[in-house]
Amino acid sequence: MSKHYDLIAIGAGSGGLSVAQRAASYGARTAVVEKSKLGGTCVNIGCVPKKVMWFGANIAHALHDAEGYGFEVDVKSFDWGKLVDAREGYIKGINDWYVTYLDDNNVDLIRGEASFADAHTLEVDGEQYTADHIVIAPGGVPTVPDIPGAELGITSDGFFELTEQPKEVVVVGAGYIAVELAGVFNALGSNVSLLLRGQHLLKNFDTMLSDTLMDEMQAESVNVMTNIQIESLNKEEDGSLTLKCGSGITRTGLDAVVWATGRRPYIDNLNLAATGVDVDDNGFIPCDDFQQTNVEGLYSLGDVTGRAALTPVAIAAGRRLADRLFNNMPERRLDYDNIPTVVFSHPPIGTVGLSEDEAREIHGDAVKVYSERFTAMYNAFTERKTKTAMKLVCVGAKEKVVGVHIIGPAADEMLQGFAVAVKMGANKSDLDNTVALHPTSAEELVTMR
Ligand SMILES: Cc1cc2nc3c(=O)[nH]c(=O)nc-3n(C[C@H](O)[C@H](O)[C@H](O)COP(=O)(O)OP(=O)(O)OC[C@H]3O[C@@H](n4cnc5c(N)ncnc54)[C@H](O)[C@@H]3O)c2cc1C
Repeated sequence: MSKHYDLIAIGAGSGGLSVAQRAASYGARTAVVEKSKLGGTCVNIGCVPKKVMWFGANIAHALHDAEGYGFEVDVKSFDWGKLVDAREGYIKGINDWYVTYLDDNNVDLIRGEASFADAHTLEVDGEQYTADHIVIAPGGVPTVPDIPGAELGITSDGFFELTEQPKEVVVVGAGYIAVELAGVFNALGSNVSLLLRGQHLLKNFDTMLSDTLMDEMQAESVNVMTNIQIESLNKEEDGSLTLKCGSGITRTGLDAVVWATGRRPYIDNLNLAATGVDVDDNGFIPCDDFQQTNVEGLYSLGDVTGRAALTPVAIAAGRRLADRLFNNMPERRLDYDNIPTVVFSHPPIGTVGLSEDEAREIHGDAVKVYSERFTAMYNAFTERKTKTAMKLVCVGAKEKVVGVHIIGPAADEMLQGFAVAVKMGANKSDLDNTVALHPTSAEELVTMR
């Protein structure tokens, strides 16, 4: 006998947990299926552990900066394993909390890997479960390059398994995960090379952000190498790794090679063929603006949709889907425009809206750009002269703000309020009419001329 629900979510990550909790809050009989740890990528092998390591890296920087403020600091050591233990303890607390959370919210937790028997029936460990609505939110997994010896490298998943700090590290990739991990390793004392296939970091970001980050990473002694074709990875007798690249470039004596070369949706064991749901060439499950797939009662949510792979996006879209299905809100959906993003690089980046290039492509000469570049007051006293750069991209006679781009210390915390302004359709004059907070870096965003 199968058990019937109003809604089952596949995956207890950002998306699945959100849609299940919100659906249950309206009285829907709800379950979530999870094959691994509660919380999904973000909690276990993504945002949360990454941010802990980023905080650790910031402390390393602050210890270095302290001298400029009159402190004599004698740093005896840094214990990577101790930080990792503390981090994993923190995450275990979140995992445990989710068990109670699901229970308190009347969401059944089904442990195991779900696969479809048909569009409304799931099998988990030999048991069958049916539902009127099934939300597919299985997230994604990292990809590795197709080269000999790729298995000797690690991905971001492996990064979070490191209990000892590798001294000599190569990170391969140009996206946000690559720059974040390279920045953490570097700040905590590893020797880091960052290998890019092309010439630029963060391909889809405003060039001011990618160019400034490149300069800052190089100033922080990250060895950024561009136009690199990786060819093979080998393990030597002494246990070290050798990475061979095109044009005779070879890196030897490596303790770790990290592939940060992309992610793919994890649909491997779902048996989607039993449902008739469309899957695109890259394995993503397309959906309309309401998360609806081509099959009635089946929805895709979060990273598996191939759109804006971010935790708050999965959460917001999941909650809105539950509002629509169980709270009589037929038009409720996530607006995917102007989604803000932070990159926890060193220094961090906050960005929302159109890059300058995108805006010029769409709006041509109607685009007006305001920008600033300066060294924040904090860095006036430190050996490290980290640059802060900001850009407002405006359009039309009223100078509607269609893009805000910030790189520099505290950019991550600066952006949220400006993202609200952009979402509300603010004009440049609205920023000008806002009294500045002084002395801050953020004040530059309301005083640009
Ligand atoms: C290193 C890294 C850093 C990141 N940093 C950030 C950040 O700073 N900010 C941000 O917003 N986003 C960040 N992200 C992205 C963010 O983690 C994802 O966008 C988010 O987790 C997507 O949520 P999801 O619900 O789609 O999938 P996930 O969170 O991946 O959850 C999917 C869950 O489904 C389970 N599952 C899969 N298949 C099955 C099955 N058949 N049966 C049962 N269970 C199944 C998986 O075990 C997993 O727990 C980061 C990602 C990575 C990898």
